[in-house]
Amino acid sequence: MYDEEKRLIIRDARVFTGDTLLPRADVAVADGLITRVGTDPVPAGPGTEVVDGRGRTLLPGLIDAHAHVFPGSLEQALAFGVTTVLDLMSDPVMIAGLRARAAGDAAMADVRSAGTAATVPGGYGAYLVDMGYLPPFPTLTEPEQAEAFVADRLAEGSDFVKILIDDGSSTGMPLPRLREETVAALVGHTHTRGRLAIAHVLSADDARLAARAGADVLAHLFVDRHADADLPHLLAEGGTAVIPTLAVLDGLFGRLHGPDLLSDPRVAPHLDDASRQMLSFGAVPLGEQARYDLDVPVRTVGMLREAGVTILAGSDASNSDTAHGATLHVELELLVRAGLTPMEALTAATSAPADCFGLPGRGRIRPGHQADLLLVRGDPTSDITATLDIAAIWRKGRRFRRPGRAAT
Ligand SMILES: [Zn+2]
Repeated sequence: MYDEEKRLIIRDARVFTGDTLLPRADVAVADGLITRVGTDPVPAGPGTEVVDGRGRTLLPGLIDAHAHVFPGSLEQALAFGVTTVLDLMSDPVMIAGLRARAAGDAAMADVRSAGTAATVPGGYGAYLVDMGYLPPFPTLTEPEQAEAFVADRLAEGSDFVKILIDDGSSTGMPLPRLREETVAALVGHTHTRGRLAIAHVLSADDARLAARAGADVLAHLFVDRHADADLPHLLAEGGTAVIPTLAVLDGLFGRLHGPDLLSDPRVAPHLDDASRQMLSFGAVPLGEQARYDLDVPVRTVGMLREAGVTILAGSDASNSDTAHGATLHVELELLVRAGLTPMEALTAATSAPADCFGLPGRGRIRPGHQADLLLVRGDPTSDITATLDIAAIWRKGRRFRRPGRAAT
């Protein structure tokens, strides 16, 4: 699935470094690392593959800041230029196996994971066990249980801790929810261990609770009402980043992206069976009182941007109406529709998650960084939809041959 290419030069490409745009540059790769980035031509030694970058844009491999990984997901993500996936709740045993494989296999994206998320017995997330997506997992209710809960997650291999703060009111399905004291204790013990606390929220009140408790990242944007004027500033001052997941919310509200992806010639040939199934699934029925419009979170994204909140791109695949990799491109488009510039949207899927989640050597095209690269036709820094016009993908300097059609 990949070539053993040790040395590579991508010549005369437009380069988005993760921070800035170089209108025309050469990028050299050796032994899986970026060695040079410059506007002066880099000489090609014997055995070096030279890729013509003219008319194309080189991006850092994309980082999906919100996904749920199953076997096959990481290969599917890489087929759309996503080289690192942040899994925000999965079976920790399965993740450990996939992560070990990804460390030695450049034909799949790399993964970091929250493993088991924190929730109360019968609370949000329990339906995943009922539906057979997850094995039964431990829960908690009291603040006194938080220290052991966090210690157990880290012992299982979790890179960060996910906390589910959701009483079901936003989806019209009432559920028991973690109390604020327990959330605060979970965040506190997570920070004591030097890790990030990621909070699932879907309501404005829960977002405020998460911010008060000191959560580092919100795993969705709330949908129930427009943001109070002070909330974006509260998040900015607390350094809380936000993963809006507009694409999955849009699908939840009944505006499906699956049909578009399934009929897009840049996408459809590269979808695996699991993705086709999820994209064909249709809308998830919400409770009666849950009637929302994407305009609410879209407007909030604009307010967050104004306030200087870090925004991260996340697909929330494997939910229905999503596909690993492909849906992240939909999310980029929606973030631009919400007011981010194309460069800001690309930052939200590259250097911003690398910085927020502490992923050294990822998310930037810079000497010494891992050669996770995405070459696309056209200029996504002016037209974000160009990210789907993929010409080549490399992980750790190895060219990934996309399944479905001949690489170009
Ligand atoms: Zn999720």
